[in-house]
Amino acid sequence: MKKEFAVIGLGRFGGSICRELSREGMEVLALDLDEDKVNEYRDIAAHAVIADSTDESVLRELGLRNIDHVIVAIGDNIQASMLTTLMLKELGIKTITVKAQNDYHEKILNKIGADHVVHPERDMGKRIAHNIISNNILDYIELSDDHSVVEVKAGSKMSGRTLVDLDIRAQYGCNVVAIKRKKDVIVSPMATEEIRESDILIVIGADKDISRFEKNLV
Ligand code: ATP
Ligand code: ATP
Ligand code: CA
Repeated sequence: MKKEFAVIGLGRFGGSICRELSREGMEVLALDLDEDKVNEYRDIAAHAVIADSTDESVLRELGLRNIDHVIVAIGDNIQASMLTTLMLKELGIKTITVKAQNDYHEKILNKIGADHVVHPERDMGKRIAHNIISNNILDYIELSDDHSVVEVKAGSKMSGRTLVDLDIRAQYGCNVVAIKRKKDVIVSPMATEEIRESDILIVIGADKDISRFEKNLV
């Protein structure tokens, strides 16, 4: 069954979400105040409308109530973003994702009842910083303030050794949840899996443990 989405605000972030959802075959209602922006999405989204999302009657007329998931991607106008989120919440939208512009905005959105608050510039900045610091960390996802999932290059120290040999869980408190080997992904590798130099390990753990693991083995 096709899921229905609405994207409010077609800047770079909202626009990218709208394109990707549509490309995946989802039915998307794209909405923006700006006529040119909306025109850009006429052939991409299932529906594209010029409207002000802070106008409650507009939200009702568009039948937004029946949409599963609404993404609010209004950036600079924090007031419009908050007001839109509040009204969507009052309409009873099941899932609301909102882009936050700063930490205060994020706090308020959480209080209003946004289901997911995203902060793409801050989070992408953090990810890139981690990739820059360590040549071996290819990617990084923050799970909480002190837990992450990282993608690391195996390297020569681990090459030819098994997870048991390296005793990663016991020694470092981290878990290797998957190994990427060329085009294959070995999910939940066995303790006897032998690591190859060009493998990429997906490791989950506390930041301090991952950092110890990385210092000693990568
Ligand atoms: P980017 O993702 O490009 O960084 P941004 O986060 O800086 O964008 P803005 O450019 O401030 O966001 O806004 C994104 C879009 O939201 C703009 O195209 C703007 O026209 C639209 N927008 C702003 N207010 C409203 C509103 N009340 N109703 C509908 N769309 C709105
Ligand atoms: P333990 O109870 O001591 O953690 P276990 O019963 O899970 O061990 P095995 O699965 O045989 O025993 O693994 C032995 C050791 O190999 C583990 O203690 C751990 O150090 C390491 N190991 C095995 N699989 C992984 C993994 N996926 N990630 C990290 N370390 C692993
Ligand atoms: Ca911006």
